[in-house]
Amino acid sequence: MKMLIVDDSRINRKMMSKILEDFGECDTAENGLEAIKAILESWKNQQSYDLIFMDIMMPVLTGVEALQKIRDMEKKQGISKDQQLKIIMVTAKGDKASIIDTAKAGGVSGYLVKPIQKEALHNEIKKLGFSPK
Ligand SMILES: [Mg+2]
Repeated sequence: MKMLIVDDSRINRKMMSKILEDFGECDTAENGLEAIKAILESWKNQQSYDLIFMDIMMPVLTGVEALQKIRDMEKKQGISKDQQLKIIMVTAKGDKASIIDTAKAGGVSGYLVKPIQKEALHNEIKKLGFSPK
């Protein structure tokens, strides 16, 4: 499977890539805008992402803003709800306001709370029907 990790922290990107290596290939992006560029590129190459991990607190374009833009882009492309990109939001502990904002912005496939634990991460992926390669 092909994944995209979006996080402004280089340490988090590295750590998540390491935890996810059993599941497949990971691209990384440093903020929401970079994520959108990566997604557009993946569509152009007809190699869309199977799963995206989106941090919420990021400069330039936050995770919630990026989610909203992605859902708008999908709508414009005529992508139906069940074909939407699977996005797991990564939140800071206790950040309920962001979770509510995300819920308004568009459907998400799950939430992970920082600090990321390997088991929690693997469980979220498995819940979506993916398994290690
Ligand atoms: Mg962040």
